[in-house]
Amino acid sequence: MTNETTLDKNITTLAFAKALDAADPIANMREHFSIPKQASGENEYYFTGNSLGLQPKLAREAVIELLDAWQQRGVKGHFEGDYPWMPYHEFLTEQAAEIVGALPKEVVMMNSLTANLHFMMASFYQPTQQRSKILIEDHAFPSDHYAVESQLKHHNKNVDDNLLLWTPRAGEELLNYDDLWQIIEQHGDEIALILLPGVQYYTGQVLDMKRITEVAQAKGIKVGFDLAHAAGNIELSLHDWQVDFACWCSYKYLNSGAGSIAGCFVHQKHVENTELNRLAGWWGHDKSSRFKMENTFKPIPSAEGWQLSNPPVLSLAAVRGSFDTIKLAGGMKPLREKSLKLSQYLIDLIAAELGSKIRIITPLENSQRGCQLSLMVNVTGLDGKAMYNALEENGVTTDWREPNVIRVAPVPLYNSFQDVYHFVRILKECI
Ligand SMILES: *Cc1c(COP(=O)(O)O)cnc(C)c1O
Repeated sequence: MTNETTLDKNITTLAFAKALDAADPIANMREHFSIPKQASGENEYYFTGNSLGLQPKLAREAVIELLDAWQQRGVKGHFEGDYPWMPYHEFLTEQAAEIVGALPKEVVMMNSLTANLHFMMASFYQPTQQRSKILIEDHAFPSDHYAVESQLKHHNKNVDDNLLLWTPRAGEELLNYDDLWQIIEQHGDEIALILLPGVQYYTGQVLDMKRITEVAQAKGIKVGFDLAHAAGNIELSLHDWQVDFACWCSYKYLNSGAGSIAGCFVHQKHVENTELNRLAGWWGHDKSSRFKMENTFKPIPSAEGWQLSNPPVLSLAAVRGSFDTIKLAGGMKPLREKSLKLSQYLIDLIAAELGSKIRIITPLENSQRGCQLSLMVNVTGLDGKAMYNALEENGVTTDWREPNVIRVAPVPLYNSFQDVYHFVRILKECI
């Protein structure tokens, strides 16, 4: 939104929100989702796509289609029908690659997020005497933190000596790049791996993945990103940025259902390296000889070479429906355009209606945020958790993160400007 609209005196009216919806070229995408209902029968104001994306109608159809194929074909479903199970993951590759800015050979849908982090570290965390440290952020998602610590222990590395933390400065929430450059400058020769989020889950801060990769790789450090909050939220160019590996789940902004199969990226410069250590399984073996059932592992020279098992096809079906929905919207570019407008509208409305009663800790510059805004209630005597509960009672679904943040994610695929309007109206009433 431009300054002009920000200054428009009508910004706080429902009519203004309706006009924004009327001008939204992908407003109809909302029809492709099932929106949970309040007890009154009205749609919830759902702002929790950062935690669990809503169900695309196409995902439901694809899962039912798959159940039918299983019912009707039994084992032959592996080879028959429009979407045979044997190559089912391949039907998703092209769209997965588009979403994260990769070449098709660099991506695969497999396993779950934390599992993939481990499999990637098996290949990209190869500590030596000289280079054994892993750098993460201080407030990493706990699962990532546990995964990294357990990798250190797995290699008999002392955690205190080998885990470096990039920490926000005292009294600040956001990560400061100068601090990162300094750690890399000082410890670059000892760091084997940097593992960071694309979008920080608590603050919503988008990290400069391109720059971080450049600076770290210049010191010989491998760089991986956890894109749980980035995939389907912001535009990514993993291939061009030269990122070594990345992992993401598909149930947040990729709307594929709780615990659904995850995504994994391995850069082209590594995929054909059959010498690279990996924890192997038969689904990563050369397709033409897989069923000869021989003992010599021959990895597929693509990200598929990291697969272990034949994948859960019900889950792949949900991902297919979800990816087709994103494709209907025209891909990440129009989604990101709308996303910035939606969240800017939220920022402007909060400023107009609530002023200093709400502090937004997410950076406000477009390049440093996705759709999620992390709000802190700044009213003496008013407890943030109570606020969150009051929102819930009024049909607004947000999420609460300890110690003190309400995360609100207006998702361009299914949230409207009117949803945002009602959110701020209800928030104001609750306060
Ligand atoms: C959501 C999320 C996870 C969850 O991991 P799963 O293995 O999918 O349960 C891990 N890390 C980050 C950064 C997340 O946002």
